[in-house]
Amino acid sequence: MPAQIIDGKAIAAAIRGEIKAEVEAMKAASGQVPGLATVLVGERKDSQTYVRMKKKACAEVGLNSFSYDLPEDVSQEELLKLVQDLNANSDVHGILVQLPLPDHLDTETILSAISLEKDVDGFHPVNIGRLSMKQREPLFVPCTPKGCIELLDRTGIEIEGKQAVVLGRSNIVGLPVAMLLLHRHATLTICHSRTRDLPQVVRQADILIAAVGRAEMVRGDWIKPGAAIIDVGINAVDDPTNERGYRLVGDVAFDEAKEIAGAITPVPGGVGPMTIAMLLRNTTDGAKRTLAGA
Ligand code: NDP
Repeated sequence: MPAQIIDGKAIAAAIRGEIKAEVEAMKAASGQVPGLATVLVGERKDSQTYVRMKKKACAEVGLNSFSYDLPEDVSQEELLKLVQDLNANSDVHGILVQLPLPDHLDTETILSAISLEKDVDGFHPVNIGRLSMKQREPLFVPCTPKGCIELLDRTGIEIEGKQAVVLGRSNIVGLPVAMLLLHRHATLTICHSRTRDLPQVVRQADILIAAVGRAEMVRGDWIKPGAAIIDVGINAVDDPTNERGYRLVGDVAFDEAKEIAGAITPVPGGVGPMTIAMLLRNTTDGAKRTLAGA
């Protein structure tokens, strides 16, 4: 039987609807609205697109957004000053510094300067540290990993006691999603570029999270029958039949895997829409915490 297709677009739309209702209720009760500050350095087209999408999503659910576009050659001191001003601004509940930053800026120093209470991307070293420790709660969890777990939860896929395999160990996706699975009591294997006999490791997975950035690397015969697959990868492959000349595919060969898996996310339309929904979630939760005086 073909796999259940996990519809990230529909799940993200439902979450955005929930957030919109919460924001309206917050506004009615306190007159306050959650606010997200986006900081964009330079003119990378992909970063501009991501920031534009985030601001649009904020407007759709009633969040305020404040944008700061800085020139490519902005100094570390100027950027740090902006972050400190935003930390002190009570209309701002979340600060998002769009990555990657130009090479002359020290990403770790900038991310560490964001107030823990406004670290809606969840990349502050203290938030990542708490995520990696037993019985510690980060204030915010990074958005894409959080979205992966939300997709499993809202599809009714149990995590506890399952064999989970994560492909990739990046700070942004692989590592934090692995930590989240561990917190939820999965038995965990993390794979990377030096893992030996990857197909054999993947065949053990009840839950597979693929975050590698290699087009359709995971083949259908790597999949355990009935497995749940969350495909984070976004890869452009040439496609002359497409008017753009390319199409987007995941890290998993979808057409092969869907015949064997129990549930699978498509690319696009799986994890992608969840990342922004989780950013809105984190910003709203941050505002609620501030209002509650926590
Ligand atoms: P990185 O390049 O930072 O990390 C890739 C990881 O995959 C590394 O850990 C690397 O291993 C591992 N890897 C690379 N090649 C292989 C291989 N042949 N076999 C096994 N492991 C391998 O990527 P990101 O984590 O930032 O992103 C991963 C994918 O997810 C990309 O396609 C990206 O576009 C997508 N993405 C999607 C998002 C969304 O919203 N849907 C958000 C963020 C990312 P090693 O550590 O040894 O180098």
